[in-house]
Amino acid sequence: MVRVRFAPSPTGMLHVGTARTALFNWLLARAEGGALVLRIEDTDQSRVAAGALESILEGLRWLGLEWDEGPEVGGPHAPYVQSQRQPRYLEAAQELVAKGRAYECFCSAERLEAVRREQRARKEAPRYDGRCRNLEPAERARLRSEQPYVMRFAVPPQGQTRFEDYVRGEIVFENREIEDFVLIKSDGMPTYQLANVVDDHLMEITHVLRGEEWISSTPKHVLLYGAFGWQAPVLVHLPLILAPDRSKLSKRHGATALLEYR
Ligand code: GLU
Repeated sequence: MVRVRFAPSPTGMLHVGTARTALFNWLLARAEGGALVLRIEDTDQSRVAAGALESILEGLRWLGLEWDEGPEVGGPHAPYVQSQRQPRYLEAAQELVAKGRAYECFCSAERLEAVRREQRARKEAPRYDGRCRNLEPAERARLRSEQPYVMRFAVPPQGQTRFEDYVRGEIVFENREIEDFVLIKSDGMPTYQLANVVDDHLMEITHVLRGEEWISSTPKHVLLYGAFGWQAPVLVHLPLILAPDRSKLSKRHGATALLEYR
């Protein structure tokens, strides 16, 4: 059975372009007799905006895009709000550490900033330099008991990560361009990358339809699916709604909040 999801972050009013992504998910679910899951991606608590969740639910209902599982309706994979699912992500990250595919990183914000500054000076793309990747086990154990840390994915230094996008065909990324991205932040919350993959797997999502601004995140997701030994869903990146001058639609072109159109 086709299972799709619409996974907004409650960071502001529901954008008309985001609503369009929801429409494509709803259409596929209804055309195939499948299920539409509504999942709230609120793990970046600093960006959560008051009233945003209500505006998402109200906007979807106004458009008639009813969801089959999610907030207010429940379902077999509840809760559908990521901040209420934290233990699952931590467990998943620990599984990757045990498999040697992730590691704790103790670098301070100051050190990371200094590394980025040097890289910029050398005209290199700023990225984590991997210092904590090969710590001695005893050193790692000592640091773990003494200071806060994040958990990072160990990206293979060579090779390529490729995937088949349903709209665009094959997309290839060089692994050396992908940094050892963070899975769990120092506050214990997962990043978008980890939470998104874990939930798409646990919620048995078959097709991911999302805006094409997420393409650059997708190789990280593909690496995660591989490391967990999970099958990745069908990946579908949808074009964005553009302004007449072909730039991304923004407030300077007119209303972007869906409910303003009401
Ligand atoms: N939370 C992401 C957003 O705000 C979801 C992206 C995705 O569908 O994977 O759009």
